[in-house]
Amino acid sequence: PSSSASAAGHGPRALAPRAIEMETRYPWTKEVEHKLRTKFKLPNFRKHQKEAINETMAGKDVFVLMPTGGGKSLTYQLPAVCDGGKTRGVTFVVSPLISLINDQSRHLTRLGIPAIAYTGDLTQKDKNLAHEELARPEPYTRVVYVTPEMLTMGGHIKSILRSLLQRKRLARFVIDEAHCVSQWGHDFRADYLRLGELRKTYPGVPIMALTATAQNKVEEDIIRSLGIQGCTVLRQSFNRPNLHYEVRPKTGKIILEIVAFIRTQGTQASGIIYCNSRDNCENLAKELRDSHDLEAHHYHAGMSKGDRRKIQEGWQEHKFEIIVATIAFGMGIDKPDVRFVIHHHLPRSLEGYYQETGRAGRDGKPSNCILYYAFKDGKKILSQIDQDRELTRDQKERQKASMQEVLRYCNNKADCRRSQVLAFFNETFDPVNCHQGCDTCLGRDCNIFNTEDVSKDAVNVIKMVQAFNREDRITILNAAECFRGFKGNSGKMLNENPFFGVGKDWARNEAERLIQTLVIEGALEEFCVASAAGWTNAYLRLGKNAKAHLNGKTMMMEFRQASPRKQPVKSARTTKKTTKGQIQIDTYARKVSDPITRKRSHQQILEE
Ligand code: ADP
Ligand code: MG
Ligand code: ZN
Repeated sequence: PSSSASAAGHGPRALAPRAIEMETRYPWTKEVEHKLRTKFKLPNFRKHQKEAINETMAGKDVFVLMPTGGGKSLTYQLPAVCDGGKTRGVTFVVSPLISLINDQSRHLTRLGIPAIAYTGDLTQKDKNLAHEELARPEPYTRVVYVTPEMLTMGGHIKSILRSLLQRKRLARFVIDEAHCVSQWGHDFRADYLRLGELRKTYPGVPIMALTATAQNKVEEDIIRSLGIQGCTVLRQSFNRPNLHYEVRPKTGKIILEIVAFIRTQGTQASGIIYCNSRDNCENLAKELRDSHDLEAHHYHAGMSKGDRRKIQEGWQEHKFEIIVATIAFGMGIDKPDVRFVIHHHLPRSLEGYYQETGRAGRDGKPSNCILYYAFKDGKKILSQIDQDRELTRDQKERQKASMQEVLRYCNNKADCRRSQVLAFFNETFDPVNCHQGCDTCLGRDCNIFNTEDVSKDAVNVIKMVQAFNREDRITILNAAECFRGFKGNSGKMLNENPFFGVGKDWARNEAERLIQTLVIEGALEEFCVASAAGWTNAYLRLGKNAKAHLNGKTMMMEFRQASPRKQPVKSARTTKKTTKGQIQIDTYARKVSDPITRKRSHQQILEE
């Protein structure tokens, strides 16, 4: 029975959809179903678990793509305790982090499944015990967790593996978090690259690759690097229907907002707040504790192992609810009831954002993901990438491109968040199915958008920037003033520019948004100059995509009717004073070169 597995989407061996409906019995089916209930205490399988299990037990290579929390571990843990498959014996699981390995082997031990965590943390004595155990004719151990370097480094473990293979007691290799193989992934590990040796060194041993990273290029990388071309690919939708996505403008009052939000969540609600640096984590956690009486603790890679474990366990066991962390925190954390994930700082990629928010709501209950966005945070990250001496040019370009995707996402207030995120994973999502599960879908019901062609204005801004000399050092704010015909108080001769005032009917916040959008699109770019006082300032110049706009590229922008784009210059000032918060909230732009986006905006026009 070889065609039982179902496979959605594309892939080296995507099986016909009809096969999904056929319930095939295998020689091991009874054992598998029985052990699911007795060993794992689970009533039934989730999507693709059974298929993955059947494929690996049939001795085939499988690539399992499941969102975080989907239940990838069971797809190897259950086969590991069964004896009826084509291959049997010990299952070796490669995992990138020692903390993850310790968690998972503890979990198995608790279920009464003998597992070894074979890491650099073992004492020589424990290592010897492990070697002895695995050298026995019928090892008692079912699962051995290893870090990639332990497996490929050589030494004793290699001869043990060879001996297990000869004795037909090497059941399979599992590569967990397999995206670490790919440079496109967000967690590339050089050690993972060497896992390509497994297929050659231990021929005939089935390989399972597990990941929650859905990008095609990552998938291709993994399959090629591991040498498992021809594997069965099981992939499923990455939509997480119970997560509510929201982007909020980051203002000076962010902490108060976060506190207010947390207070709506009830005292038992666990959450993660992501920050971009160790200092920020520590400061924010302290502020939440000291000034707002919230039990929050920080977590980052600069802490000792013991401290990190204490914090992680305390949080998992509900000793306290809020963890303020860098992205060092999260991979493989198995906590089902995380009710919110807040990004105090911007993520570096949409991929990362999806993974980080994916830690919320694994139990399927409604959970919130809030991203705080300030344009200037994005600019800062872009310039940090530029100035990073450790990066090659290629890496810089890649990282900047990912960052730009994040900025577009934040700026796109018009399209369903879910359809934006899933489009990034090559998945088409109909916003009708969002059911107001994101801020833009919610907003659509109370705000009517107008889409306007702003191509001419874009060209005017570009020509205006072009007309300045580099020495004029024009900031985004100066440019917006000049565009709107404000001399401003910077002392710069804005009114000498031939385009001074061409956008005099633009509201201030919208003019700034127009210029920000041009920066995100690469039509304008910022260059940094260190001031005498030691800080750096960013000034505008033309970017590499300026030509396209000058040559007639269309640019559309979405405007809420509640905040019309055009306002007479005189009243613009009062707008700024009276509704400051409002302006921030409306500071969103959209990109129209993207077909999905364009389609939506037409739809909206029709709706109007
Ligand atoms: P992943 O590795 O895909 O992120 P895990 O394997 O860690 O996810 O599983 C996430 C959670 O789902 C765990 O708490 C696990 O016990 C639970 N789970 C897995 N399979 C099932 C199932 N068939 N039924 C119920 N819960 C399951
Ligand atoms: Mg996992
Ligand atoms: Zn939506």
